[in-house]
Amino acid sequence: MNVMNFLEELSKRAELIKNEGDYFKDELLYCGVCNEPKQAVKEIPFAENKKLIVTLQCKCQRDEEEKQRLALAEQEHRRKVKYLTQHGLAYPKYKECTFSKDDQRNTDITKLCCNYVRHFPEMREMNNGIMFYGDTDKGKTFYACCIANALIQREVPVLVTTLSNLVQNRVKALTSKGNEISLDDFRCIVLDDIGTENTTQTAFNIIDEIYLSKKLLIVTTNLDPLEMKCADTIERKRIYERILEMCGTKVLVDNDKTRLQSGIEKGKIAESILNS
Ligand SMILES: [Zn+2]
Repeated sequence: MNVMNFLEELSKRAELIKNEGDYFKDELLYCGVCNEPKQAVKEIPFAENKKLIVTLQCKCQRDEEEKQRLALAEQEHRRKVKYLTQHGLAYPKYKECTFSKDDQRNTDITKLCCNYVRHFPEMREMNNGIMFYGDTDKGKTFYACCIANALIQREVPVLVTTLSNLVQNRVKALTSKGNEISLDDFRCIVLDDIGTENTTQTAFNIIDEIYLSKKLLIVTTNLDPLEMKCADTIERKRIYERILEMCGTKVLVDNDKTRLQSGIEKGKIAESILNS
């Protein structure tokens, strides 16, 4: 096939669409809506006096194509978010906790959580997790899940569950009674209500796995960091030490005040980002 034939073949592939209102000017078709040409004359290099009419897309066609591309991308995004929500959130109540439902009772914490989502790549780089601690019913789980849902909206795989759940799941999987949740599928793990679980070797193994694989950890707990440091048994101490190290940002959630504690260096760098 010579160049000429090849180009002719090419020009046939682009479909010329003539709509009502389209018109010809200098033997070329123009769009009746945007008035851009739908055809153009191309000179053929090295083929004197030979010209080729090629098909162009007018603005309306380009806009339509872009609209379709965006609609497909949106559809794909929604499919991903649905999948991540179904696979990442252990209980339906976690799904309900989103920034849009925040009653702004503590704007400092809301700001910190939003910044955490916004700066997630840097937080990952620093391996800086968050611990929300304080009394029951002050919104610890709410804030942790707001972050989780917002990250899922950004297509980040997040698992929200309890340590007890993960332990039970692992024990069941060992006795072939269920599929094991693979922590590898997630980039961020949210463990709700730390401190209520039985501290077994399996519980420690799970925390250690999260620690070694450098996944971001977010926990909620009724215990304060000092209580965790003074845990009564060696097993608890081992688990809590890991958690305290992984959660560089510690946030007291109560109705009166916010106190951000930075026990370690990366916490201080993170604090400046999260409070910016
Ligand atoms: Zn047009």
